[in-house]
Amino acid sequence: MNDMPTDFDMHGFDDSALAEAASLLAHDEPFPGGAVVPPIYQTSLFTFANYAEMADTFAGRRRQPIYSRGDNPTVMEFEARMAALEGAEAARGFSSGMAAISATVLAFVGAGERILAVRNCYGDAYRLFERLLPRLDIKVDYVDGSDAEAVAAALPGARMLYLESPTSMMFELQDLGALTRLAREHGIVTVIDNSWATPLFQKPIAHGVDLVIHSASKYLSGHSDTVAGVVVGSAAHVRQINEQTYSYLGGKLSPFEAWLLLRGLRTLPLRLPHHMKSGLAIAARLKAHEKVERVHHPAYSNHPGKATLTGYSGLFSFEVTEDVDIPAFVDALKYFHIGVSWGGHESLIVPAKASLEQTPGLNSMARFGVGPRTIRLHIGLESVEDLWADIVQAFAKAAR
Ligand SMILES: *Cc1c(COP(=O)(O)O)cnc(C)c1O
Repeated sequence: MNDMPTDFDMHGFDDSALAEAASLLAHDEPFPGGAVVPPIYQTSLFTFANYAEMADTFAGRRRQPIYSRGDNPTVMEFEARMAALEGAEAARGFSSGMAAISATVLAFVGAGERILAVRNCYGDAYRLFERLLPRLDIKVDYVDGSDAEAVAAALPGARMLYLESPTSMMFELQDLGALTRLAREHGIVTVIDNSWATPLFQKPIAHGVDLVIHSASKYLSGHSDTVAGVVVGSAAHVRQINEQTYSYLGGKLSPFEAWLLLRGLRTLPLRLPHHMKSGLAIAARLKAHEKVERVHHPAYSNHPGKATLTGYSGLFSFEVTEDVDIPAFVDALKYFHIGVSWGGHESLIVPAKASLEQTPGLNSMARFGVGPRTIRLHIGLESVEDLWADIVQAFAKAAR
């Protein structure tokens, strides 16, 4: 392939996790009528043949979907795939990553209790923690998750340890095994946002994490055409979410979105290594570029948290030198679209300089010292040579 960068280093990549995922995603039996694609059960309710069926279902003696705010077969198919991919017993789909985060947190933490979260967690998770949770008398403290000693010092008395490895914008890693051992000693439930790595490149359950959350809007969907979320974990932990929050907060996943996610999942083992290779190639070239001071990509980290990653996705950040006019750089790009989110075909750019002005007083980047010269890139599926040429010409136009 003449499109492959010549300077890429696979960083010891072993593709066995991709092969395993491909096996788990293969449908061994056709769907009703011999369909190779699951049907979309676009129905709000499911009827019963007689009184006894209804009564037995309500009493929990038999299982059948009752109403799509609870269970729906298309959504259940997605949930089963996600549980299998993460090596978990159960999963629950949600209308967004934030619906999954809020329903999970509120299922386990109540008034007078405390959450310990990693700094630089996803911006809207931070805003949920800072805006809504104090009104429910839930306190959130933040810690540098890469510092296991700092976590150990802050952990006693917390009800939940909230992780995201790597973190948003700064891509700081956490040692999942060490942190979950600490949490278990204190009887603290552990949650991780695993959207960046996907279950193909990190399986937190195997490292002791209790609940794994994804914004399915990103790589799982893979086509920038849906907003969805999912949480996976033990049957008991997912049951607690089902019983405490899922049905009542009502942030259910719709059958059509679940169907899009099932379609997206089928190509995840193909898409992700491409994002990885192109991302590593662009990161390496940025690292060598005179206008770049630092690249925040987990591949360049020596932190023990790197050991649980079996690959890298295509999202990372870098810091430019002072003589780069950031708005001019951003505006000069042609392949990189200016926009949030990530995980689809298209390459995207988010300059921290603009994001730092979002929700003044409630901005985790401002609070945790993310600098205005930090720029986040999502490396999409375009030609890596086109992307690099675009960056080079944009730097030339943005010189002050
Ligand atoms: C986008 C995102 C979320 C939120 O997911 P939505 O589907 O947009 O609600 C959570 N965590 C991370 C790391 C994200 O990037």
